[in-house]
Amino acid sequence: MSADIAAIRRRRRRVMVGGVAVGGGAPVVVQSMTNTDTADVASTVAQVHELWQAGSEVVRVTVNTLEAARAVPAVREKLDALGCPVPLVGDFHFNGHKLLGQVPECAEALAKLRINPGNVGRGAKRDEQFATLIDFACRYDRPIRIGVNWGSLDQELLARMMDENLKLSRPSPTQEVMSQALIVSALESAARAEALGLPGDKIILSCKLSGVQDLIRVYRDLASRCDYPLHLGLTEAGMGSKGIVASTAALAILLQEGIGDTIRVSLTPQPGESRTTEVQVAQEILQTMGMRSFTPLVTACPGCGRTTSTVFQELAQSIQTWLRRQMPVWRERYPGVEAMNVAVMGCVVNGPGESKHANIGISLPGTNETPVAPVYEDGVKTVTLKGDRIAQDFQALVEAYVQRTYGDKA
Ligand code: SF4
Repeated sequence: MSADIAAIRRRRRRVMVGGVAVGGGAPVVVQSMTNTDTADVASTVAQVHELWQAGSEVVRVTVNTLEAARAVPAVREKLDALGCPVPLVGDFHFNGHKLLGQVPECAEALAKLRINPGNVGRGAKRDEQFATLIDFACRYDRPIRIGVNWGSLDQELLARMMDENLKLSRPSPTQEVMSQALIVSALESAARAEALGLPGDKIILSCKLSGVQDLIRVYRDLASRCDYPLHLGLTEAGMGSKGIVASTAALAILLQEGIGDTIRVSLTPQPGESRTTEVQVAQEILQTMGMRSFTPLVTACPGCGRTTSTVFQELAQSIQTWLRRQMPVWRERYPGVEAMNVAVMGCVVNGPGESKHANIGISLPGTNETPVAPVYEDGVKTVTLKGDRIAQDFQALVEAYVQRTYGDKA
């Protein structure tokens, strides 16, 4: 990360979410959210644990019913028993004031409350219910995220701003008024929370939209108008490559400008796909941008007419999967390994060159090339593999390299 970006990021206030620092120049935090029924304690514990093992540093759970609120302390207890300290965030809409009143232990078990100002209540009840939620945050000394979403924007505020806009001699386009309403909703809610006694260093803001250009415009504006830490994410990003590309495009531009202290990639899982994909994508955005390191990355060429077999593709995939699986143990045992770079290349055209740039790299034989695979470690050719066990032999070499390079040298 450049010194300029780091300086911009340090200007934000720092908020502690459980033991995790957000803002104030702290590393950008990766978040995720469960999709289990929170009332189902066993499933929720299993998924939170899985997300945490994948690298999620904060996990949000929906708290939408009395049963869900009652389940939260049990979820926390079971996670603690599993040695999983990940902070839990409660996502409240419509009835949060009631649920916390009925189950105050729920607030105790949560590390942060997410409040959507558009879903706190209507009319005269709105302020009262918002004040109740802030009172819980103050009483239990918990930070809040004021999470505005354009799908549930405060309609009374929007109507007021639309009316004011129409009175102008040159009214702004509707889309612009809506963007401003998102920002005003977040800022006014934060000011109200502070007026109710919640310290400014207990507030995180987000203004999520599903359009890339809209999100970038809103966050630039929001970032210039406050120093609260910002939770960043493209809402309803979608499935598969569309969701990944849209999220990456939006988040990368903002992160490069020093905007965003915690991120979530809101992917819709493919049927049967693990929820952890969103964590992996968030980590890869940060790692490929050089902002944080989580897992050794594999540099692989795309392959071309010089690689007519699938050996090279299979090796690239199996090494990346194997590296990721090692990380829960390697993270503790081999500090620094997360920044390691492994190259798996398809032929001699770019293979040896790219392998020399990596910590450890292999260049497989392309079609009609001599069936040998030179391996480079720290820029030096150390061995040439051949035969049917190239994949297994290379994996063993990577493991030996990790032990030698990142193991305890005491
Ligand atoms: S390194 Fe070789 S196989 Fe890979 S894309 Fe380049 S020419 Fe093709």
